[in-house]
Amino acid sequence: MKFCPTCGNRLISKLIDDTTRLTCKDEACGFIFWNNPVPVVAALVFYQGQYIIARNAAWPKNIYSLITGYLEQGENPEKAVLREAKEELGLEGHVHHFIGNYNFSEKNQLIIAYEVHATGDLKLNHELAEIKHLTPDELLQYDFHPLYITEKIIRDWQNHEQD
Ligand SMILES: [Zn+2]
Repeated sequence: MKFCPTCGNRLISKLIDDTTRLTCKDEACGFIFWNNPVPVVAALVFYQGQYIIARNAAWPKNIYSLITGYLEQGENPEKAVLREAKEELGLEGHVHHFIGNYNFSEKNQLIIAYEVHATGDLKLNHELAEIKHLTPDELLQYDFHPLYITEKIIRDWQNHEQD
């Protein structure tokens, strides 16, 4: 971002509360670009005794992860994660448990991950190229590299299973 979205003046770097931030050059305007992270929900979907991982249509071959999506305005994350499972896989689900929150700082996102148990008839939408069905053991052994957030989510999921 180069220009102030409020008044159109140039943005400059300024130290605010010990953090360098982009702010409007015009002090009377006072715009500060906080760059708050965007929440993204992620579903580890359990379906017919196996876990589903998916390759997004925009991703390279062999890169699989969880079902993810943005929240709608006013939507809580539990609702959003079930809506994404419905939209992308065609499945009805319920939240089995919350896995964790993850800072994906490269993309300025906060990933909110859940295990979702789902039923119904699978029907992939255009966002997904392919899916894999993995047993719990296969899921634990699956190499998600370079998706280190997915690796972390699966490790935390495993720790929850062992509690
Ligand atoms: Zn301004």
